Amino acid sequence: MSDTGRVYLVGGGPGRVELLTVAAVRALRQADVVLYDRLAPHDELAELAPHAALIDVGKTPGRHPIPQDDINRMLVHHASQGATVVRLKGGDPYVFGRGGEEALACRDAGISVTVIPGVTSAVSVPAASGIPLTHRGISHLFTVVSGHAPLTAAEHEHLAGLGGTIVVLMGVATLPTLTAGLLTFGMAPTMPTAIVERGYGDQQRTTIATLATVVSEAARASVTSPAVIVFGQVVALANDDGGDREAWALLRRAGDLASL
Ligand code: SAH
Repeated sequence: MSDTGRVYLVGGGPGRVELLTVAAVRALRQADVVLYDRLAPHDELAELAPHAALIDVGKTPGRHPIPQDDINRMLVHHASQGATVVRLKGGDPYVFGRGGEEALACRDAGISVTVIPGVTSAVSVPAASGIPLTHRGISHLFTVVSGHAPLTAAEHEHLAGLGGTIVVLMGVATLPTLTAGLLTFGMAPTMPTAIVERGYGDQQRTTIATLATVVSEAARASVTSPAVIVFGQVVALANDDGGDREAWALLRRAGDLASL
């Protein structure tokens, strides 16, 4: 260990080790300490970070998550003792990942930080299910929204008026409020909607519905977090209900990384 440590804030991607970046793998290989959470790929950590102490700081059912301030303190503590510290997060550190806060906490403590971007679930989890967020002629924009807290009426109105594809993370609990808001402000009740649970995991599952039916379909299927919700015509590309079945089947198969 050198005298002064450093912190790498690393995006771990949506959970499959193949979707780590080369930079992430290099940082893990050098790590003395890894602080990870449940959405980051963690099963293979012992091999990826052979010299590191592995610390789970994530939420697991029935256990309180470690508060963000404590995580910040742990990063600073280990790095100031000379350790190379990897903070491994799900997806990308700057997409609803509190990466900015962690980077600033390190800076405030005089610790050098490097941020390694990751494959965000916002884009990759729909892809795992055969949903291209933009498809020429169908959608030329996508918007990524946190469903962690309910949106305001003004936000629902803006969102309903945007067009393109809407991607919601952390949205399972607030789905009824969101769909009601989008319907109120004029989004078509027939808008194709998908919920992709546990993207790239063994238990990956996609529920296809419409804006009007998605709440009841989600309840019927007992949809749980983590899931990515997609509203938009591009969802119809992954849907068997019409058009070019062969193309859709291909897109779905193309999202499966089993051959890697
Ligand atoms: N920084 C992360 C997002 C953190 S918020 C990123 O860029 O992906 C956590 C939310 O991400 C979850 O509630 C869920 O909506 C989504 N998510 C992350 N990984 C996922 C996965 N493998 N399958 C489905 N949803 C996932």
